[in-house]
Amino acid sequence: MKTAGDNGSLLRRTLDLVRARDGRLTRELQRAPGGFGLGQVPAAKAPDATTSMVCGFCSTGCGLTIHLRGGQAVGLTPTSDHPVNRGLACPKGWEALSVLDADDRATVPLLKDAAGRRRPVDWHTALTEMTDRFRSIQAVHGADSIAFLSTGQIATEEMALLGAVTKFGMGILHGDGNTRQCMATAVVAYKQAFGFDAPPYTYQDLEESDCIVLIGSNVCIAHPILWERVMRNSHNPEIIVVDPRRTETAMAASLHLPLRPKTDLVLLYGLANLIIENGGINHRFIEQHTRGFDSFAAFVRQFDVQRVADETGLSIQAIGDAATRITRRSRVSFWWTMGVNQSHQGVRTAQAIINLALMTGNIGRPGTGPNSITGQCNAMGSRLFSNTTNLLGGHDFANPDHQAKVARILEIPRERIPDHSGWAYDQIVDGVRAGKIRGLWVIATNPAHSWIEQRRLRDILDRLEFLVVQDMYHSTETARLADLLLPAAAWGEKEGTFINSERRFGVIKKVCRAPGQALSDFSIFKLVAHYYGCAEMFAGWDSPEAVFQILKRLSAGMPCDFTGIADYRMLDEAGGIQWPYPAGSADTAPQRRLFRDGRSYHSDGRARFLFEEPRQVPEPPRRDYPFHLLTGRGSAAQWHTQTRTAKSDILRKLYPKDPYVEINPADAADLGLGPAQWVFVESPRGKARVRAFITPTVQQGHLFLPMHDSSTNRLTLAVFDPESRQPAYKSCAARVRAVGQTDVLAETQGASFIPLPSSGADSNDCAES
Ligand code: SF4
Repeated sequence: MKTAGDNGSLLRRTLDLVRARDGRLTRELQRAPGGFGLGQVPAAKAPDATTSMVCGFCSTGCGLTIHLRGGQAVGLTPTSDHPVNRGLACPKGWEALSVLDADDRATVPLLKDAAGRRRPVDWHTALTEMTDRFRSIQAVHGADSIAFLSTGQIATEEMALLGAVTKFGMGILHGDGNTRQCMATAVVAYKQAFGFDAPPYTYQDLEESDCIVLIGSNVCIAHPILWERVMRNSHNPEIIVVDPRRTETAMAASLHLPLRPKTDLVLLYGLANLIIENGGINHRFIEQHTRGFDSFAAFVRQFDVQRVADETGLSIQAIGDAATRITRRSRVSFWWTMGVNQSHQGVRTAQAIINLALMTGNIGRPGTGPNSITGQCNAMGSRLFSNTTNLLGGHDFANPDHQAKVARILEIPRERIPDHSGWAYDQIVDGVRAGKIRGLWVIATNPAHSWIEQRRLRDILDRLEFLVVQDMYHSTETARLADLLLPAAAWGEKEGTFINSERRFGVIKKVCRAPGQALSDFSIFKLVAHYYGCAEMFAGWDSPEAVFQILKRLSAGMPCDFTGIADYRMLDEAGGIQWPYPAGSADTAPQRRLFRDGRSYHSDGRARFLFEEPRQVPEPPRRDYPFHLLTGRGSAAQWHTQTRTAKSDILRKLYPKDPYVEINPADAADLGLGPAQWVFVESPRGKARVRAFITPTVQQGHLFLPMHDSSTNRLTLAVFDPESRQPAYKSCAARVRAVGQTDVLAETQGASFIPLPSSGADSNDCAES
């Protein structure tokens, strides 16, 4: 029997079908012409002006047109005539503004009280406390007892000011950046081979090559706009992908070489040997522009194709096929990212790539080059101007002429310039452990999530007397450990320049107000100098653009000379300008590559062949940990530790909600695992609770964990390339087991499982596939 209530409910449901009673209002969905050539935009966000700037996520450096209303950003679109992205952006770029509005933005300095509770304080209290504590630690333990860890995410002018204030003003020797985690290997490889850290290419080379070799680079996912440039290549290029996984990029390749993890060096030496045997070398280029080829040719003779096949797991036919394809094409470009850089022998692997380019003369011409792709938006700025490994502007701390030049331009006493670079990231961490570093200043990076072998690092950070974290969010794992949190403005809330992977300077602008009392990193560094008592030394550094002019003068005569770039306006109008761009340069083309005359930056102008016997992986699979664990980027919508990307509702919809491990179907069957089942991935150092993603894209015996979840670095092993000191994130031994009833019980009782932090609480660090 139906009641009157039933009928009412039926009526309501029928009306709900006709008219939605929740969700967005129709007027919010209306669109209107945006003007400025933008097409349709949400009517409520129609701009009254636009401006342009580069994206603040990755090193691709896409141009974005910011829609302004009353001087504030209300939306963005990719810039259609920008030389990098030509009207395209990946999901992260489209969402670059929305992540600024998160609830966990740091808006006021927070100081821990005696009970460990974070209390809001004003800037005067915060900076007095910071500089007093640092000074008193230095007074007892020496100037070197304070260190800093910075980032490739802040503007060039900011990192230069930080490096100058700390090293010249505060007497701090040890400082490094999270670029150590992504680009140190490429830096050292280029420096040793060419005499300067000089990625030689322009993105145009992706369109000009007739053979594109991608090594340890899932460019489809990690650098989607560069993949779009490959898709525009009209030369029907061979695409050779060297990667243990059948990545999205490998699926689009004409030849995929799914080698055993960390056998890339053996493969590259074997390819060199085959190319020499096949007569595929460029004798003229080798004789005129290189040094050490004969020794290299003799060395690689031992890498006969049978040995290479045995060690890499590839077929003899596939190895020969790759060598033939490289030999037959005239414009071969070699591209690498973290699969090479984050390795126990990354520098030699990168140099084995450089060797292939040199011996085949694939350098300095369109569509060629040994080309490392950077990770963070300003990793290249950090490499040249952070004043950490190099003295400002790519100079050498140990070179008296360089010291004198920098002292003269900055008008500071030469004695303020250290005569050697300080410790690398891992050495600073060890310094904390050993009690030599007592105070640490962490800027826009989140080592408690991103540093290798996480639990060890967190124990070490606990030993600090005073930890200062400067970040746009108060919720990162490292920020929560801080004794003092300094709230920083983000991309979009401040000015400066970034340098992208192809050496292109691009401008960032203030198009939003920073929340609360947050200040630009530039202003914070100036204030620290003032409170520390060294502000006079930096009186001329009064704005980011003033610092740009100082850096210009420092670059004079160096390979990165950009004295021909007048100002930000010139950069803005050109859509960015690549270094070098010396004053009076006749070559002002928007796409330029290095080494067109074959000369490197070594004093004899010759590039070096560098090589070394391959070494075994430090932790191969074994009986109790039978899998080889690989790590890398999960999706194009995720950025590193997801400090920002997890704040976007849209980006969160573009990747799985739960962390997962990729496992081969045969292995899953052996272990009795079903799709999406919760499992523990364990290494000798810790465990991660993730879902099983059963897929043939990983080989039998391999596991793949995206790096974005905080639990991944509980498993990784703290091993470093001996030349670059870059962590080897990509390889360790692991095992998998299903989460059982006892685990669930233990979790409920909080006995054995450490709860995963919310995916929204992390940072900007660099480590990608
Ligand atoms: S590819 Fe990189 S620079 Fe371009 S929009 Fe995406 S995140 Fe930004």
